[in-house]
Amino acid sequence: AMVTRLAPSPTGFIHLGNLYGAFVDERLAHQNNGVFMLRIEDTDEKRKVEGAIETIISSLEYFDLKFDEGVTVNGEIGSYGPYYQSNRGEIYQTVAKYLVEQGRAYPCFCTEEELAEVRKQQEAEKVTPGYYGKWAKDRDLSLEEIEQRLKNNESFVLRFKSIGTEEGKFEIEDAIRGTLSMPENFQDIVLLKSNGIPTYHFAHVVDDHLMRVTHVVRGEEWLSTLPIHYELFKTLGWELPTYCHTAHMMKIDNGVKRKLSKRKDPEMGLGYYMELGYFPAAVREYLLTILNSNFEEWRMANPDSSTDEFKFTLNKMSTSGALFDLNKLNDISKDVLVKIPVEEIYDFLLNWAKQYKTEIVNNLMQYKDSVIKLLSVGRDGAKPRKDLIYCEQIFDFISYFFDEYFEIVDPYPQNIDEEEAKKLLKAYMETYDHSDDQTQWFEKIRVIAEQNGYAAKPKDYKKNPDMYKGHVGDVSTVIRLAVVGRASSPDVWEIQQILGEDKVRERIKKASL
Ligand code: GLU
Repeated sequence: AMVTRLAPSPTGFIHLGNLYGAFVDERLAHQNNGVFMLRIEDTDEKRKVEGAIETIISSLEYFDLKFDEGVTVNGEIGSYGPYYQSNRGEIYQTVAKYLVEQGRAYPCFCTEEELAEVRKQQEAEKVTPGYYGKWAKDRDLSLEEIEQRLKNNESFVLRFKSIGTEEGKFEIEDAIRGTLSMPENFQDIVLLKSNGIPTYHFAHVVDDHLMRVTHVVRGEEWLSTLPIHYELFKTLGWELPTYCHTAHMMKIDNGVKRKLSKRKDPEMGLGYYMELGYFPAAVREYLLTILNSNFEEWRMANPDSSTDEFKFTLNKMSTSGALFDLNKLNDISKDVLVKIPVEEIYDFLLNWAKQYKTEIVNNLMQYKDSVIKLLSVGRDGAKPRKDLIYCEQIFDFISYFFDEYFEIVDPYPQNIDEEEAKKLLKAYMETYDHSDDQTQWFEKIRVIAEQNGYAAKPKDYKKNPDMYKGHVGDVSTVIRLAVVGRASSPDVWEIQQILGEDKVRERIKKASL
């Protein structure tokens, strides 16, 4: 079975790249009855942030990504732990010792100053920087000298002794990129730092092997260090996992395509989507659309299937960098939400509010039926309304229902001043009967229009614009503004039915005074 892992560092920031990797991991594992695991790469004390692990887990849960093994909020699950790298010190030490015994690792006592000097010389000679060949000063220290310097308590790192092969290059199958032909590693990279903490190169090799990981999905920033990992696996006599290097997500910024950046792009952080209340189904749908070239075709053929039924294939993933576009995400979200039953939208909205907008929770609970009805207006029929995107926007969309959020945000139509609007609203009030059906209701508006000098039909107005002040549409806009507070909304008659007679009368009265 496939075993995949997410291996984040607890730095307190979890971003789209993590989500995208995790999503690939999760799909690979779960579409093949495999295991999806969370390992925390917390060897860097300095970058550790309080609460980061909870954030990682809850963010991924938000997007319906659940781990089968590894770190959880209630301790660890699985028999391949510990799953915190900080608790695996002895394991790294053991493997390191083995490499020393094999003559494939050695202590290096070079100081920062010495290394800086080497770098300077390498720069002057225009050669590849690093610790190798004649530059690897401590590579062949005698055992006596090593013992002596250890006795002197000199600080040291443990380096890998790289030997490469005759060909000087190797080939490897990347599941996303196909066959990679790469120059072999020749650098004596650090395995253990002077404080005994392993580097990423060493720790992930040891962990992925011992944790039986079959597929390593990680960002393309690791591609160039693959030779190091390749040699480490070979040296240890371990089978290489299948590497899958995902492309960076890009965006168009002022007409230029560039990498999404943690610093510059708020939409890079997952918190952005959680705070706005995006639906996981929408985000997943969007990610698949930009990540897997055959997804859209599949979707066309399976309009109602869950994304989980799509067979994710690594070789159909973009290698040039998927283009991220919020507008596209929002469009897809509208398509996705139109298929989600309103009751489910309500439940998600309520849960989201409990976490991110507590001040609306009571309103949502107390007026559950009305909220559901409001969200339902115009959703049936052949051309259902597609205007719901994410919770913040959904609440804004219906917020006029609640008196404390109601306000008239749009202006009256240009041809209608306040005096005129009040006159129309008074006329509306006089004839208003809450029990009118939609036809009766509209008929009354037409009469009001006619009696006040507006064309009863837009086309009459078009023909003779000089004869009228406007047309019936302007009159209903005035009513819409008084009742809903905005110039556009779903069907006003239906909304009035949901608001209830008292609220409607109250609002019209207020606007007509
Ligand atoms: N801790 C590494 C990171 O956060 C993990 C890379 C990997 O998945 O191997 O980038």
